[in-house]
Amino acid sequence: MKRIIYIPFDHLHRGFGALKEADPKNDLILFVESARMLGGRPWHKERLFFLLSSARHFAKALKDEGFTVEYIKAATTVEGLDAGVKKHKNRSIICAEPSSFRQYEALKNYGVEFVENDFFLTPRGLFSHWAGEQKNFLMENFYRAQRIRLDILVSGNKPTGGSWNFDKENRLPPPKNYVGPAYLEHKRDEIDKEVAKELDYAATTTWATTRKGALAQLKNFIDNHFAEFGPLEDAMTTENWAMHHSLLSPYLNNGLLHPSEVVAAALKAFEQGGIPIESAEGFIRQIIGWREYVHGMYWYLGPDYRNENQLGANRKLLPLFTDASATQMNCIKSTISDIDARSWVHHIPRLMLLSNLALITGTNPQAFLDWMREVFIDATEWVMVPNVIGMGVHADGGAMMTKPYAAGGAYISRMSNYCKGCRYNPKLRIGENACPFTTLYWDFLDRHKESFATNHRMSQQLFGLKRLSDLPELKERAREVLEGLEKGEI
Ligand SMILES: Cc1cc2nc3c(=O)[nH]c(=O)nc-3n(C[C@H](O)[C@H](O)[C@H](O)COP(=O)(O)OP(=O)(O)OC[C@H]3O[C@@H](n4cnc5c(N)ncnc54)[C@H](O)[C@@H]3O)c2cc1C
Repeated sequence: MKRIIYIPFDHLHRGFGALKEADPKNDLILFVESARMLGGRPWHKERLFFLLSSARHFAKALKDEGFTVEYIKAATTVEGLDAGVKKHKNRSIICAEPSSFRQYEALKNYGVEFVENDFFLTPRGLFSHWAGEQKNFLMENFYRAQRIRLDILVSGNKPTGGSWNFDKENRLPPPKNYVGPAYLEHKRDEIDKEVAKELDYAATTTWATTRKGALAQLKNFIDNHFAEFGPLEDAMTTENWAMHHSLLSPYLNNGLLHPSEVVAAALKAFEQGGIPIESAEGFIRQIIGWREYVHGMYWYLGPDYRNENQLGANRKLLPLFTDASATQMNCIKSTISDIDARSWVHHIPRLMLLSNLALITGTNPQAFLDWMREVFIDATEWVMVPNVIGMGVHADGGAMMTKPYAAGGAYISRMSNYCKGCRYNPKLRIGENACPFTTLYWDFLDRHKESFATNHRMSQQLFGLKRLSDLPELKERAREVLEGLEKGEI
């Protein structure tokens, strides 16, 4: 039977999904570039550039292999499918299971047949089975089961190196004047230039748009960054924008790389020697633990989860998120400038700066989620929703994480060099030089002390709150800070 294989822009791998068994003689490949996807929201142009150029390169590679490829530009995905189906009648249309609830429904309603989505290491059903048996959804428990199930860094049921977790070793602050090896630059070809021109955008050379480039990025990480990944994975510094992070999330998420390929490369390097266990374990945990867990939770928690707002947070998005000049806080100014520059910052600025700020200012979770979706190169619905709603801003009342990731300026000062020379002092909670994070952290605890009262993981923080002698002054300063943030003056 002749088929149309529809390839969404996050299924760009020849060996997985619907292309796994595709045959140029019988299968026609359909891509749809929808105007809604391009113009529906104020997307970061680097992100659009990356997604479009990767898809166009991939379409070309399939053509070069001998496939007939239709790359259709249409107002919506459905209109694009219509155009493809009209042109190539009497063919069934198939696709690997899509990665979001919305797309799943839309394609199902259209009559697309699904093959299993194997872009992850954990089938959705297997994850649901695990989740259904848990009292709480501790990632650590899932991760240990993954290590055993996938036979990674274990002998029998025992962890390699004698411990499941080397987090304690992996919390170093940035060394002074830290430079580190250079990052890869990706040369731009004709397809890149054409996409950049259409978007009226001067794309950076940070992100690869081909399988070859993504593999080069993987090799660069393994050869030059992997050994130091672990100990410095939480560190932030103005001197080095990525530390030793792999910069692989965009390719893992759009399919240019499969997680099994990344894991295999990491294990091979570890087995050859020279990679400390804390780096090997720390990195493997991100791929087979966090990434799979977040994906599984997205499907397990269901489509309504993205609307959770259990802390009743209703503040509008602060101007500093879209304009680095609307704040005097060094850490946020620097982070927003980095996002403007290349559409990426690592997990600690995402969690402990941006999400933490949204959490303690009581910013509306959905407004914050939308913004995060728009600006990050690797943002897709399945990964952003649990990371923001569950982990970042605790809008689910603790369904996913047992406690909120709220922190004051002391954490930022310990883990970065942002506070040096900042107008605000992380040690102060009142007065006009007080760090907004420090003031708002205590104010947040005070505003929600009743809801956290029964959470034993919050008891130390609440005990600290009770001991504050200057709470009335702090509340007054918090009011001023929130007003100043809304005006873009703090
Ligand atoms: C609030 C918040 C929002 C996030 N939004 C996204 C997002 O939209 N897209 C995205 O891919 N990651 C997201 N992450 C996870 C993480 O920040 C990024 O995957 C990582 O910074 C990407 O850079 P890297 O490839 O250098 O990662 P590395 O630090 O080198 O980690 C290796 C890989 O592990 C995976 N990974 C690690 N942590 C997570 C996680 N929490 N969830 C899913 N995958 C993880 C990624 O695929 C990543 O490429 C978010 C984290 C937080 C706290």
